[in-house]
Amino acid sequence: DELGAPEQGVVISRFGQHADVESHDGEIFRCNLRRSISSLVCGDKVLWRKGKATQHSISGVIEAVHERDSVLSRPDVYDGVKPIAANISQILIVSSVLPAFNSDIIDRYLVAAEQTGITPVILLNKVDLLDDSNREVIEKQLNIYRDIGYQVTYVSNETGEGIAELSAQLSQHTSIFVGQSGVGKSTLTNTLMPELGLVTNIVSENSGLGQHTTTVARLYHFKQGGDLIDSPGIREFGLWHLSPEQVSNGFIEFSPYIGTCKFRDCKHQNDPGCALIAAKNDGKIYPERLVSFQKILASLGDNTLTSRFND
Ligand code: GDP
Ligand code: ZN
Repeated sequence: DELGAPEQGVVISRFGQHADVESHDGEIFRCNLRRSISSLVCGDKVLWRKGKATQHSISGVIEAVHERDSVLSRPDVYDGVKPIAANISQILIVSSVLPAFNSDIIDRYLVAAEQTGITPVILLNKVDLLDDSNREVIEKQLNIYRDIGYQVTYVSNETGEGIAELSAQLSQHTSIFVGQSGVGKSTLTNTLMPELGLVTNIVSENSGLGQHTTTVARLYHFKQGGDLIDSPGIREFGLWHLSPEQVSNGFIEFSPYIGTCKFRDCKHQNDPGCALIAAKNDGKIYPERLVSFQKILASLGDNTLTSRFND
């Protein structure tokens, strides 16, 4: 027929009934989707075919979607969850010196990341704003995360500190930047892909619209290798609803203890026989992390507690 041979491609962006697909040699084609395709998002790897004729700027057809290595979904009132990006291999949790570093927020993002199975990495941006004594305080807090096993990188767009290290870290991955507004995600994106002044514009255009705005996710290439998927909806993902079970699973260093409390529905507050409190008292988990865990659990409300003596 009038279609070219099937080839491999990556979905750069999905919108409505169409998607932009990047061919192996970096050209972008706007494609229709076969009806058999039930779900297609930014980052999906696809089998597609070029069209011979360009009709209404549509120049290809997506035939099939390859299995995803990972998927990031957001809660949806109608569907339960709605996938927004696929094949992300690394979540960069961005924090900064100003707005002030806040480990509670980092912990929420870590919980959300652990739930997806995608590796989180912690970034502290704007280190140019630190003096020696501030730096010591914040390093002490961040060393906790290194101890647990997370990678922590210090960067500054202002001085360039850590940027080469960050570039190397991004090069073999498809990454997303997440974190509070103002920590410097779009500035970092700009530092890492200076030829794309566009990205900052997209970001600032949308940043005033509130956290429920869903704008199309898009995949970009870093200059030094590696890809970035960006969308305002993704950046806030750590603040989406979490279940108590997800919170428990998200504090990875608690796993040897968490199932061994005396009562199955232990709230890990002042409960008798709480294995987490015992682990904290024995110096096996950080008190800071336990406090943060308790805070996150409390913020979820009292919605899942059933019978206290259920085993
Ligand atoms: P986003 O909301 O996370 O995308 O944050 P932006 O990229 O918009 O940055 C917020 C503000 O922080 C802007 O005024 C940036 O110029 C500033 N900023 C970003 N990176 C740095 C940095 O490394 N050092 C300093 N001092 N300021 C920075
Ligand atoms: Zn407990």
